[in-house]
Amino acid sequence: MDFTGKTALVTGAAGGIGASLVQRLRAAGAQVAVADRSLEGIEAEAHFPGDLLDTSYADALPAKTADALGSLDIVVNNAGVITRGAVTETSDEDWALSLGVNVEAPFRICRAAIPIMAAAGGGAIVNTASCWGLRPGPDHAIYCMTKAAIASLTQCMGQDHAHQGIRINAVCPNEVNTPMLRSGFAKRGFDPDSAVAELGKSVPLGRIAEPEDIADVILFLASDAARYMCGALVEVNGGKPVQ
Ligand code: NAD
Repeated sequence: MDFTGKTALVTGAAGGIGASLVQRLRAAGAQVAVADRSLEGIEAEAHFPGDLLDTSYADALPAKTADALGSLDIVVNNAGVITRGAVTETSDEDWALSLGVNVEAPFRICRAAIPIMAAAGGGAIVNTASCWGLRPGPDHAIYCMTKAAIASLTQCMGQDHAHQGIRINAVCPNEVNTPMLRSGFAKRGFDPDSAVAELGKSVPLGRIAEPEDIADVILFLASDAARYMCGALVEVNGGKPVQ
């Protein structure tokens, strides 16, 4: 895929999927603005460190990208947090954090990016939902709810902004070998390498996803190859749908 002349904003750019995506976009010729709490060691054309819970920071990211890179063709809302537990085990802080990062920040970034893209004749937005946004798994009530919310928002925006030449889609991964998954294993007292290998046995393809397996699908959705896709929720699961 050729992204020469294209500009992109990627949130969660220092994370597992984000870092892989930034590398691949740049290798394919895109100029990339990266956003995350810390961006040390992340190579890109523009760096916007900050906290997505800061609403004015999220609101400003699309315009800052367009100013820094000259245009805004692609936005990938990839940042996310996972809070574990049933509703009765969930704190007010879990609620605010999960809604803030997983739903409100992408909402704000899309709301700010869409007019910029529309004025330039179009663009592509890819949101990161989850298989658990399509069918919830156990003991992650708030996380699943936020991923269902961003999936629904993607479908709504996909319909509402297609007439402006803006394609808005979401990728829905199952388990991916990133710090998000590995830190969860470590917190529960499991060795992450053994747990990832064990979990891989439950996937028909024989392994859980690596970050680049997801990044490649995001790249496709952001590219002209996906030119007729609007509001799609693309499940990427190695043959293991959540039951
Ligand atoms: P990750 O933890 O490696 O990366 C997430 C990134 O988001 C981190 O770099 C983190 O700093 C950033 N982030 C979190 N809160 C932030 C905030 N308040 N302000 C700014 N940045 C913030 O996780 P990942 O697995 O690469 O996750 C990427 C996306 O994929 C997430 O939306 C996640 O929910 C989704 N996802 C992951 C899996 C999985 O198994 N890893 C499965 C399905 C969906």
